[in-house]
Amino acid sequence: MTAHETPLDSDSPLTLPGFFSALADGELLGGVCAECGEVLLPPRPSCYACGGRRIDVEAQPKTGLIFSYTAVHTPPPAFESEGPYTIAVVELDSGGRLLGRVNAEYDDVEIGSRVRLHTRELTADERSIAIEYELEWPMHVFELGDG
Ligand SMILES: [Zn+2]
Repeated sequence: MTAHETPLDSDSPLTLPGFFSALADGELLGGVCAECGEVLLPPRPSCYACGGRRIDVEAQPKTGLIFSYTAVHTPPPAFESEGPYTIAVVELDSGGRLLGRVNAEYDDVEIGSRVRLHTRELTADERSIAIEYELEWPMHVFELGDG
């Protein structure tokens, strides 16, 4: 049975809870459109490139290159003490693009920098604003380099 034939409940890898629960287990899942091959991160029930609804779920590489990045100088309240910090769109080695925090100073990041995805537990401030089910979700962070 492929992903698009399963019900869209919180166990489905095509929903955010399913995506983050896999991530907590160390697996980065992407949706791959059976029509056009677009990689959807996080996975979703229909393709944003072609509108196709046949989406297969496949493990994605945790390595890629910085595609675009910026510094967040005015973070939302829960992240206030952490600003400024760097966020980036990373193009994974599979071609899928994932937005996330980069654990590096803005000046140390360049377009094309190689990064690897890591996960960590939420901080106390982050936990204070998380919705109950999000408490089980890890924070994903890109680290510079391949290690
Ligand atoms: Zn598609």
